[in-house]
Amino acid sequence: MESLVVLLLHPMDTYLEQELDRRCRLLRFCWDSPPDRRQGFLRTHSTSIRAVVTSGGSGADAALIDALPRLEIVACYSVGVDRVDLDRCRERGVRVTNTPDVLTDDVADLAVGLAIAVLRRIPQADRYVRDGQWKAKADYALTTRFSGKRVGIIGLGRIGLAIAKRVEAFGCPVSYNQRTKQAYPNYTYSPTAIELAANSDVLVVACSLNEQSRGIVSREVIEALGPRGVLVNIGRGAHVDEHELVSALVDGRLGGAGLDVFEDEPEVPEALLALHNVVLAPHMGSGTRETRRAMADLVLGNLEAHVLKKPLLSPVV
Ligand code: NAP
Repeated sequence: MESLVVLLLHPMDTYLEQELDRRCRLLRFCWDSPPDRRQGFLRTHSTSIRAVVTSGGSGADAALIDALPRLEIVACYSVGVDRVDLDRCRERGVRVTNTPDVLTDDVADLAVGLAIAVLRRIPQADRYVRDGQWKAKADYALTTRFSGKRVGIIGLGRIGLAIAKRVEAFGCPVSYNQRTKQAYPNYTYSPTAIELAANSDVLVVACSLNEQSRGIVSREVIEALGPRGVLVNIGRGAHVDEHELVSALVDGRLGGAGLDVFEDEPEVPEALLALHNVVLAPHMGSGTRETRRAMADLVLGNLEAHVLKKPLLSPVV
């Protein structure tokens, strides 16, 4: 695919960048220049760029797609494609790929890790030892058990199912909410997120972001989860009404939260930083060396398949 001109929107992964450089004609999207240089850059290269490589955070909006008349494929280095204008891609006949499956285990591991970290207060316990409080004071305050807790999952897709499988091993009964009821013998379906929250000790958000799931964790859902409930979000920040979440945590109307994603990343609401019932992570669900390599290989494999006119490995559009 030496002749394929690929626009890489921002630095994502060193290996991916090196391989794109080696295998294609790679253009970096003015990474170190002021944003106003980008329009000129696009005008200069618009008739040569045939592929865009983007991330879940950046996506590809209609303005970018429209600025590239020869664009054939948007390869997303994430499974979530909520920031790619899929309708515009369909209209334009632009293919879209993502990186499903290869990241499922790591994201599910993190979801379980966050739930345990919140309930067992692992980060706070670490600080207790480091700060010398264990020696100075006494044993650490008692925490809350994770094993056996009722786990509700919004979105029992690839990642949601992997979470369910893991928490079953902890003796946790699993319920779920999504648009389609499935015939899972071990998992109970809840028709609404509110009902799911009311019957859960730990509520995990693992659905994709779309118009119906935006804000799905509303004030009502948070109230239903209640002062002993824990919210874990490894989906997208926009799934949760963050303002309501923060005020419920501050007021003690919600027991705790483990959050990998936020509404306005990398901004995190200041109030969360002071709370002891919250564990925060910097959108690192898929962030292991093993998975990021596999994601990069999938991006490269999709581009290669496209050039060779073979079936795409993980098509979205
Ligand atoms: P998936 O297999 O497509 O599963 C998505 C699930 O969400 C499906 O079960 C779907 O069921 C459900 N869903 C969609 N719309 C819904 C709605 N309005 N209400 C309730 N459920 C809904 O995707 P996946 O591979 O598991 O990934 C899920 C999401 O995780 C991604 O889209 C991404 O946003 C997020 N993610 C985060 C990280 C991270 O680093 N934190 C990493 C990877 C992925 P129905 O269609 O039946 O509703």
